[in-house]
Amino acid sequence: MRRSSDELNKMRKAGKVVAEMHEATRAAIRPGVTTRELNEVAAEVLANRGARSNFLNYHGFPAVICTSPNDMIVHGIPGDYRLKEGDILSVDCGAIIEGYHGDAAYTAGVGQVSAAAQKLLDVTERSLWAGIDQLVIGNRLHEVGRAVQKVAEAAGYSVVREYVGHAIGTEMHESPQVPNYWPGSPGPTLKEGMVFAIEPMVNVGSYDTYVLDDGWSVMTSDGQLSAHFEHTIALTDNGPEVFTVA
Ligand code: MG
Ligand code: MG
Repeated sequence: MRRSSDELNKMRKAGKVVAEMHEATRAAIRPGVTTRELNEVAAEVLANRGARSNFLNYHGFPAVICTSPNDMIVHGIPGDYRLKEGDILSVDCGAIIEGYHGDAAYTAGVGQVSAAAQKLLDVTERSLWAGIDQLVIGNRLHEVGRAVQKVAEAAGYSVVREYVGHAIGTEMHESPQVPNYWPGSPGPTLKEGMVFAIEPMVNVGSYDTYVLDDGWSVMTSDGQLSAHFEHTIALTDNGPEVFTVA
């Protein structure tokens, strides 16, 4: 769907709140901190900015962020897990301002991480920006996934298939979906005013996943590390505009 300039302004504001949630949670990540404490930090940002949470109560999700350590890919529930030196942690944040949504994620190292873990973070973030570069008017949507996949696979990693990016606006998850791989067809033509959440999930090993008994936590099937980076981006005359940056 194409958004009016008034709608884009509201999404810009929601994006700024999400960026602030990123800054605040990043600053709080250290060995000994629990993921529940990070959720509280993010909830405080939402309250201070008069924003609503799009994650809380989403199909019953009990928190305002997702926290997914190590071999957990996405959708982890904040709780008693206490971060330790060398972990990596994916943090997914969202906010609603005046009915319009922002959604973005990052993966951070806890203290000092291995060179292998750092490489995974760097490549996954780079794959996100390669995807964002494809969000130009007249291009076809699934060039995004092709670009993401190229970067991830060139490093020897795999791209998760079962969870994908999405259009975003008055709902967090709108059609169409945005796969992080080439799905075999070029998809819709991109037009000014479209807004997407692009979110590569990149695994060191296999892209196969399973879900824990909590019904949420998505894990790598082989127990190897996974990283997740996401931004909300609008298509403008001047190219892609990333809303979820400070
Ligand atoms: Mg997200
Ligand atoms: Mg998303």
